[in-house]
Amino acid sequence: MPTAMSELYKFLKQKNNTYKTWLQDVCSVPSVATDKDSCRKVVDSLGELLLSIEAKVTIYETESNPVIWAEVGEGDKTFMIYGHYDVQPVDDENAWNSSPYKIKETKDKYYGRGVCDCKGNIIANIFAVKAYLDEYGKLPCRIIFFLEGDEERGSPTLEKFSSKNKKLFSDVDFCMFPGEQNYIDPAENNVVTVGYKGCYYCELEVTGANTPVHSSLGTLIENPAWRLVWALSTIKNEKDEILINEITENAVPPTKKEEEVLKKWPFDTDKVKKQYSVKKLIGDVLGYAAKKKHIFEPTCTVCGIWAGNTGEGVVKTIVPNKATVKLDFRLVPNLTPDFVENALRNHLDENGFADVTVKNLVKLPVGYSDLDSPIYKTVSSVMKDVYGKEPKYLVRSPGGGPQYYICSQFGVPVFTAGVGYYGSKVHAPDENVRINDFYKHMEFVFSFLENLGQKGGKVT
Ligand SMILES: [Zn+2]
Repeated sequence: MPTAMSELYKFLKQKNNTYKTWLQDVCSVPSVATDKDSCRKVVDSLGELLLSIEAKVTIYETESNPVIWAEVGEGDKTFMIYGHYDVQPVDDENAWNSSPYKIKETKDKYYGRGVCDCKGNIIANIFAVKAYLDEYGKLPCRIIFFLEGDEERGSPTLEKFSSKNKKLFSDVDFCMFPGEQNYIDPAENNVVTVGYKGCYYCELEVTGANTPVHSSLGTLIENPAWRLVWALSTIKNEKDEILINEITENAVPPTKKEEEVLKKWPFDTDKVKKQYSVKKLIGDVLGYAAKKKHIFEPTCTVCGIWAGNTGEGVVKTIVPNKATVKLDFRLVPNLTPDFVENALRNHLDENGFADVTVKNLVKLPVGYSDLDSPIYKTVSSVMKDVYGKEPKYLVRSPGGGPQYYICSQFGVPVFTAGVGYYGSKVHAPDENVRINDFYKHMEFVFSFLENLGQKGGKVT
């Protein structure tokens, strides 16, 4: 273990209680994005913690929760660390084995809402920087902590924030996103994600009579539920193919380099089947075909659908007067949310469904990085030192994130690194992290900074 690293461990041991107090402090507040007061409390706590490492902290108000922009250190390079302090609601506390807003520490894990997604990541990052400052007195580069409070509902404030504050982002060279549930896979590989699918989430609605009517009138009164089903059947077929031509024709296939990187990404279809107790995957896809479908193809998913009598066991013979479906489209390059919104509208109109209304709920563009950016060499070599093996790269997460607004549109490459692992149960009861992963991630950030320092702030 290099001397500086043993210093890091000594530091963490000495400051263990401080670090755990902070973790407990921010995780004890139920900062669901809709709970403005709780979010404000966490902003105050994180602001205080960032001030303690002598960061220049600016709180930007938005139409929802504030954005924290904290700068510390100086150098040729600017390293941005993204995080979000909002959490998913707990819903059923009884489903937890411990109180979700009180950190429970076992021999090897911390449990609590946000301990992985993503307050735990924020705390680990701040403490790693603090450890570096204690060891070396100054940072090898400029670090920006960019922390938002609306990620769990699709980061609705960031489009405006980033277009209003373009200048702030102009010097950023690379950005670290939190490594959450899939960051360490079951084979203990570090999986570094560099891009995200985009998302267009909408609600389709069909209305009928001015009131639900007796189903004997099903002969004469049009049924919105049937109309919605017919409209949906024009959008996707039984082979899971999207039938909106504009979407399929404009989706850009992966590049050679992206395919090369994807081939090395470990993905086991049998494990997926076992995990979710399903006999087969859609289209019986296997091997690389499954990876390709999962990562490079756009989706259209019915997330919820309802109309009329939905009471369990209730017999109510009616023609409903309203039917609704929530749909999400996961997007690949060249499919912007606006493009998909238009394509969907055109498709419905052309197929005789002009009466189906479309309400937008979330729009997130695709996030991407330049795979040839030199930063990935640095990330790989530091991870190899810290974790004992080189990471695997995931070209595009099948889920979404705010990467486009704060990084891709400014040409800033992204990598994930953090405290999560495959068993972190984010968004679910018993969210947890392994304590060793916490330490390892702090070590990674510390070593990453050392590496930048050794090279005179130059990334090679
Ligand atoms: Zn989340």
